[in-house]
Amino acid sequence: MTMLHPEVKTALPGPKARAIIELDQRFSSPSYIKEYPLVVERGEGPWVHDVDGNRFLDFMAGIAVASTGHAHPHVVKAVQEAAGRFLHICGTDFYYDAFSKLCARLAGYLPEMGPKKVFLTNSGTEAVEGAIKLARHHTRRQYIVAFKGGFHGRTYGAISLNSSKVAQRAFFGPLLPGVIHVPYANPYRCPNGCAPQTCGDACNPALALEREWFVNHVDPREVAAIFVEPILGEGGYVVPPTSFLKELRRICDTHGILLVFDEVQSGIGRTGHMFAAEHFGVMPDILLSAKGIASGMPLGAIIAKESVMTWPRGSHGSTYGGNPVCCAAALATLDVVEGLLDSVRATGALLQRGLRELQSRHPVIGDVRGVGLMVGAEFVDPATREPASAYVGELEQLAFRKGLLLLSCGKSTIRFAPPLVVGEHEVAVMLRILDACLGELSLDLSRAAPA
Ligand code: PMP
Repeated sequence: MTMLHPEVKTALPGPKARAIIELDQRFSSPSYIKEYPLVVERGEGPWVHDVDGNRFLDFMAGIAVASTGHAHPHVVKAVQEAAGRFLHICGTDFYYDAFSKLCARLAGYLPEMGPKKVFLTNSGTEAVEGAIKLARHHTRRQYIVAFKGGFHGRTYGAISLNSSKVAQRAFFGPLLPGVIHVPYANPYRCPNGCAPQTCGDACNPALALEREWFVNHVDPREVAAIFVEPILGEGGYVVPPTSFLKELRRICDTHGILLVFDEVQSGIGRTGHMFAAEHFGVMPDILLSAKGIASGMPLGAIIAKESVMTWPRGSHGSTYGGNPVCCAAALATLDVVEGLLDSVRATGALLQRGLRELQSRHPVIGDVRGVGLMVGAEFVDPATREPASAYVGELEQLAFRKGLLLLSCGKSTIRFAPPLVVGEHEVAVMLRILDACLGELSLDLSRAAPA
């Protein structure tokens, strides 16, 4: 019998939630996922309240989006004021203050990239689409390199780059031609089969790119760009060795290829730096942002070296991209996030220490990894290291029933991507609930394990 966390007062889903879920399921697209029956009424900081009066601790932040926490007063005020002035005027065709200020602010990060220009979008996937166009236009080359396990969104260009979610590509073809998928550096699951502790520079899949792919499959002089997530998001919160990204930078420099960092998930303070590029000390030519940039208001950005953003006037645009209310939310979000970076690094370290302690008592946790508050725990069968996917599904459900919101990624990884405002207390509460869940689920795992 599952013990309810004190914050969860009714059996889930409660009666009000059930009515809303029923309506939703009758009329909304069957493609939506909705992992567990959470029906949100409001949120504050890292806490979310449902329509039946239950309170949940949010460690997934609407998929790493609610960077400043729910309903942060500074962001809410900025949104309210902007909405009271004008809702829309189209930044592609007209000027307004928040649009210009946001472009300038984003261009000011990562000074090592040199002078930059910014294109504002509605979402991450739209930033990816724009970057594909920009890379091809600027280089006059057609091929794009992307990574196995990568995820870049759900529009056609983006799903052509994806490879982490089979269901999101299957039966939608033909996809964009000219995309090559190569292995990503994963120290826990090294493509060359070595142990996590010893996997390093020698296994760098970036080397294979030059030695094999550019020799046997594609002429590097026809490659426009390498699109890479500096930390794999949907593919399982995989942190590559710095040498992987450094080597990609060198390869791009050697062959005149553009390096594109998709920081839709890893950016805006999540790693304890404004962008993960700073953590690794590797600068891209084009950086893509979205998710946490406006605390959940729909906004994304293509931030490119000025020398690269060369597409001519009228060649690319967007009706809503850089909407004034979203720009106001983004400027306010950046104010808040800039003040949180030290705390993200400290809280992230605490979180990883706590998860490692759990790992020492629950061998089903095969790996703990992450940077800042982008942390993953990969769950495996301890005997075989096979992904424990069903276990993770059950864990998400059980955590929800105990008042903790978690979200999986990859085959069997739980991502810990809370609002960046979480502190010691929330980490301690989360670890306590998780420990209780693991205690309840471990019996099931040993029953399922082969004799
Ligand atoms: N790139 C990455 C790395 C992502 O994680 C996502 C979303 N999970 C996207 C792009 C797509 O962003 P959006 O859902 O805003 O279109």
